[in-house]
Amino acid sequence: TPPVSLADESLFYGAVLAIYLFSPLSVFSLLFVTAPYGKHSRAGWGPSIPPPIAWFFMESPTLWLSLLLLPFGKHRYNPIALSILSLFFLHYINRTLIYPLRLSRFRIPGGGSGFPISVVAMAFGFNLLNAYIQIRSVTHYTEYGGRAWTCGIWTASRVAIGLGIFFWGMAVNVRSDLSLLRLKAGGSGAYKIPRGGWFELVSCPNYMGEVAEWLGWAVVARSPAAFGFALFTAANLVPRARSHHQWYLKKFEEDYPRSRKAVVPYIF
Ligand code: NDP
Repeated sequence: TPPVSLADESLFYGAVLAIYLFSPLSVFSLLFVTAPYGKHSRAGWGPSIPPPIAWFFMESPTLWLSLLLLPFGKHRYNPIALSILSLFFLHYINRTLIYPLRLSRFRIPGGGSGFPISVVAMAFGFNLLNAYIQIRSVTHYTEYGGRAWTCGIWTASRVAIGLGIFFWGMAVNVRSDLSLLRLKAGGSGAYKIPRGGWFELVSCPNYMGEVAEWLGWAVVARSPAAFGFALFTAANLVPRARSHHQWYLKKFEEDYPRSRKAVVPYIF
């Protein structure tokens, strides 16, 4: 078994605590300052780079750091731990490799705004921290022998529900991202009102799907680290969905469907 130093334990539990503390901070700051990329791009945030490069770079720690940390976990050969990890990798193979490729495929040359390097740096830092937390939690700090993992029908039901939420969320997230990219390419780069599917109920089904994914992952992984990440994702994306929704209502004043909510159908 690879040794665990006291320093690693302190780092791990400190990092998990940090992700819980970041969540209310994120909600509070995003109420006043919307992250300056995409629809909310504006001057004053320094130089920018093309979005496909930004997404690839800032999400990349979730793949390379995760793979580097994997061999140090005492559960590195445990099939339960590896199955849980495969969900994490599935999401981040899409986000780090496939999504940037799609962004560049649908990108109109010279169209759209760049991605500020300052925002890329913050997201890169968060992904470093989160990859460390999630991988160490699954491969080392979670114990798979207790009642939560051995109680037949209860464990199976919990895992089935979590997997259902995760895969539903991922399907909605990936499909909605793709619809938006197609919409953009079809409109010569201009923003349009998205229509069809979950867009009829909410302005940001991609964010709704992403929040669902990490909630599902947390139900399956059943760890403070996983619930902290789900909470942080909601704390980041729900305020941004609210900003997107307000932006749509202002931009398409006359035509935007009034019954549509920001991110939670019929509610918010
Ligand atoms: P957006 O919905 O803002 O944009 C997605 C893409 O669609 C962008 O290329 C955007 O162009 C384009 N687009 C959006 N709306 C329209 C429209 N009405 N007409 C035409 N084109 C449009 O998503 P994000 O860029 O914020 O996020 C991308 C993915 O990353 C999402 O799946 C999200 O869930 C995920 N994410 C996850 C986070 C987390 O905390 N886990 C944090 C942030 C994102 P443009 O960029 O020019 O606006």
